[in-house]
Amino acid sequence: MPLLAEDSRGTLLVTGGSRGIGAAVVRQGSAAGYDVAFTYVRERAAADALIAEIAAAGRRAIAIRADVGGEDDIVAAFLAVDDAFGPVTGLVNNAGIVGATCRVEALEHEMLERVFAVNVIGTMLCCREAVRRMSTAQGGSGGAIVNLSSRAADIGGGGVYVHYAASKGAIDSLTIGLATEVAGEGIRVNAVAPGLILTDIHAPGRLEKLAPTVPMKRAGTADEVAETILWLLSPASSYVTGAVVDVGGGR
Ligand code: NAP
Repeated sequence: MPLLAEDSRGTLLVTGGSRGIGAAVVRQGSAAGYDVAFTYVRERAAADALIAEIAAAGRRAIAIRADVGGEDDIVAAFLAVDDAFGPVTGLVNNAGIVGATCRVEALEHEMLERVFAVNVIGTMLCCREAVRRMSTAQGGSGGAIVNLSSRAADIGGGGVYVHYAASKGAIDSLTIGLATEVAGEGIRVNAVAPGLILTDIHAPGRLEKLAPTVPMKRAGTADEVAETILWLLSPASSYVTGAVVDVGGGR
């Protein structure tokens, strides 16, 4: 079995780590001492640049091309992490898509299937792979899982993306249920629910329009979300499980 770097805090897998919130988690996780693996789908150049940045800081990271909307890619990604750094001790289920911006009456089946395949089924299958490796009942040494929910799960996304909000509602239920299922097996499971965060996921102009409606009067940054995720991964949150932590500036 491959060895962790001598000073490693463990093996962290971040899905969708090439850009946005995922890339901030990769950077902060690496700086905190994790050996970090992350997945991407399209942005190979961004993934390569991030790997180079981490290597320049003297730490280890790998990028794996894996679409979390497909089981084969997920299984292969976890095996690649096993080979590179040993089994995951931390998992951040970050990869997520909005799909179309439309009302429910305009939904198309194919888009709906893709949103749920990536956001919900992908997250659940990644949890499955992680639990198989982390569970002390299965010979693992425990670990922490953080899922990306959204404030949309509570707000509902009406008129814009009810389908996306519903997929994030599923993430909240998954987080609570899985947390109770594996609490006695050394695994903590939590979620972070960001509000409006400055990343490419938003349609052009959306953040500028909505930022004044946030109680804190601004959008958040990917780094502000990553700070909370790193805390939930760390021993500093050792008695926190089944929580959905809002990072939304009061929204
Ligand atoms: P983003 O900027 O669009 O970045 C998405 C990341 O996920 C990219 O690294 C992308 O890879 C990857 N990705 C997309 N589809 C994937 C797939 N099928 N398989 C694997 N990776 C995939 O998104 P973000 O704003 O950082 O959002 C990250 C998470 O936070 C999502 O779950 C999102 O729903 C949630 N969230 C975001 C906000 C916000 O305001 N930004 C608010 C609430 C919740 P490529 O670079 O290869 O395309």
